[in-house]
Amino acid sequence: STEASDRPVRTATADDVAVTLAYARRVVVVPGYGLAVAQAQQTVSELVDVLRGRGVDAVYGIHPVAGRMPGHMNVLLAEANVGYDLLIEADDVNPGMPSTDVVVVVGANDVVNPAARTDPSAPIYGMPIIDAEAAGQVIFLKRSMRPGFAGIENELLFSPKTQLLFGDAKASLSAVLSALKDV
Ligand code: NDP
Repeated sequence: STEASDRPVRTATADDVAVTLAYARRVVVVPGYGLAVAQAQQTVSELVDVLRGRGVDAVYGIHPVAGRMPGHMNVLLAEANVGYDLLIEADDVNPGMPSTDVVVVVGANDVVNPAARTDPSAPIYGMPIIDAEAAGQVIFLKRSMRPGFAGIENELLFSPKTQLLFGDAKASLSAVLSALKDV
């Protein structure tokens, strides 16, 4: 919708993402509104469990306003029986970001948008964010280049450390799970 959306991004296949995740030490999954749209809570939980079973330190980074209602991510992930010990609040997950290999952003956008820190004109300016950009690599699972609730561009989508796996989050997560069996 904006001029900036025509800028190039790096895309990844499900196979690429499976390899990246399989060889990571620490992975933080950041869910957002798109997790609810896709109803992908069970599938993301399976992915985190499979990674943990392979020895990857995979956890969830939970932003207080991710989704469209307070506690939205906690409710969704509780439906999938995700253990509370794996849900790390933003304040607690951020200090570990520089030593996190991969952040997987599952249907989230505003809650990882660095404009909240850098752009005083942004509607989300001043909102605490999950500091995905401090991690080694960032993978976004989303359907398009459309922005989130705040309606603004996210520079992190264009970062050299970012890759996008386009598609519905549930379909993409299923494809990554399936690809992991061959890694
Ligand atoms: P955002 O709304 O910023 O982004 C959601 C992203 O999900 C979009 O970029 C969209 O991209 C993607 N998405 C939508 N459907 C799917 C799908 N089926 N599969 C994969 N991706 C999908 O969400 P966040 O959770 O990051 O941020 C929440 C926002 O909502 C904040 O701005 C917050 O202030 C606001 N808000 C929160 C409330 C709360 O209490 N939690 C209440 C009111 C507002 P694409 O379309 O390309 O797929």
